[in-house]
Amino acid sequence: MDEESRLIRAGAGRKPDAKTVAPAIQRGSTVLLPNARALYDGTFGYGRSGLNAQHALCEALCELEGATETQVFPSGLAAITAALLAVLKAGDHILVVDTVYKPVRQFCDSVLTRFGVGVDYYDARLDAEALLALATPATRLILMESPGSLTFEVQDVPAIAAAARARGILTLIDNTWGAGLLFKPLAHGVDLSVQALTKYVCGHSDVFMGSVAVTDRKLAAALQDAVHHHGWAVTGDDAYQALRGLRTLAVRMARHGENGLTVARWLEARPEVLRVIHPALPGDAGHALWKRDYCGACGLFAFVLRPGPDKAVEAFLNSLKLFGLGFSWGGFESLAINCDPQFKRRKVPVDYGGPVIRLHVGLESPADLIADLEGALGVWDAAS
Ligand SMILES: *Cc1c(COP(=O)(O)O)cnc(C)c1O
Repeated sequence: MDEESRLIRAGAGRKPDAKTVAPAIQRGSTVLLPNARALYDGTFGYGRSGLNAQHALCEALCELEGATETQVFPSGLAAITAALLAVLKAGDHILVVDTVYKPVRQFCDSVLTRFGVGVDYYDARLDAEALLALATPATRLILMESPGSLTFEVQDVPAIAAAARARGILTLIDNTWGAGLLFKPLAHGVDLSVQALTKYVCGHSDVFMGSVAVTDRKLAAALQDAVHHHGWAVTGDDAYQALRGLRTLAVRMARHGENGLTVARWLEARPEVLRVIHPALPGDAGHALWKRDYCGACGLFAFVLRPGPDKAVEAFLNSLKLFGLGFSWGGFESLAINCDPQFKRRKVPVDYGGPVIRLHVGLESPADLIADLEGALGVWDAAS
C-alpha cells in the first residue's frame, strides 16, 4: 500500500484493554462493526449511543438515584428541556414552580408555548392540595425545583408527587441542590429526577452535563427516543470527568454541608444580616420538610442584608477576596452573587426585607471564608 493508506490503517490492531479501575475513555463517533450482518442487526451502530465511559456513568447514576434508567445530556438545562419534550405534546398544560431556574422559565415561555403547550407558574410555597387545585384536565406535568436555587423554598415533594399521580399527572424535579445524594426523588414518588451534574456531581467547575433518571419503563423509552430524536450526545471525556466527580461526591458534599452551616450560623449572629435562608437552620420556613426528607445540606444558601443602597451591595461583593463572583455552584470553590435582579420575572413577588445574597460555600477553610465575609460586611457597613 502507499504511505497515505498505511498511515490511515496503522495502529488499528490494538492490544486488548487491561482492566483499569477507571473505564477507558473511548473517543469515537464511528464504531467499526465485525461483519456485514452486524451493520443492521441492531447490535451497535454509532458512537452517539454512548461508549464505555458514558455507560459506566449512567450505571453509576442509576445507583445514585435508585433508577432503572438514566440518560445523560450535554448540560443540566438540556436534560430538563429534553425531559419536557420527551413527554409533552401540543395541547398539554404544565405547572412550573415560580422560583424555577431562569433558563428553564425562558424555555417554557419561548419554546413550549410556541409548540402549543400551556404554561402556568405556581407559588413555591403552595401545599399539594392548593397546587393540584390549579391543574386543569390538560395538565400533563408538574415541574418542581426544591429547594429553589435562589431563595431555597422547600416543597412537599412526596405529597405533591402522590397527589399528581392520583390525577394521572407526571412530576419532574430539578434536584440539583440534593444532587441525588441528599434527597432521592424517585423514592419519594417523583417520575423524572433531573439534576445538573455540572454542579456537585462533576464538582470542579469544568464540565457541563445533566441527567434524567427514571424507574418507569415507558418514561425510559420516551427519554431514549428523545435522546435519539434530538441528537444529544456527551463525549467520553466529559462522561469520564463526571464519573470521577461522582466517586467523591459523598465526601465533598459532607464538607460543603458542614462548611455551609458554619458560615450560615456565623452570618445569623451578624448585625448587618436580617436573616439567613438555609433549610437546615431550625428557624427556616423549609426546615421541617427538609428535616423530614433530606439527609443533609449542600453548600448553597442565601442571606438577607439589612436594607441599604445598591452601591453598598456592590461594595460588599467587590471586596470579597475568597468568594468569587459567578453564576454557578457545586464546585470546590466559594462563590457569591446578589439575587434581586433575578426576582423581577417572578409572578409572585416576595418581600425579603433587604438585598438577597446567595453564597456557595466551597471546600476552603470556613475560618478563612468567615474572615473574608467579615471584611466585606465592614465595607458594606461603611458604604450603607
Ligand atoms: C445550573 C443549573 C441548571 C442548569 O445546568 P447547566 O449544566 O448549567 O445547564 C439547572 N438547574 C439548576 C437549579 C441549576 O443551578
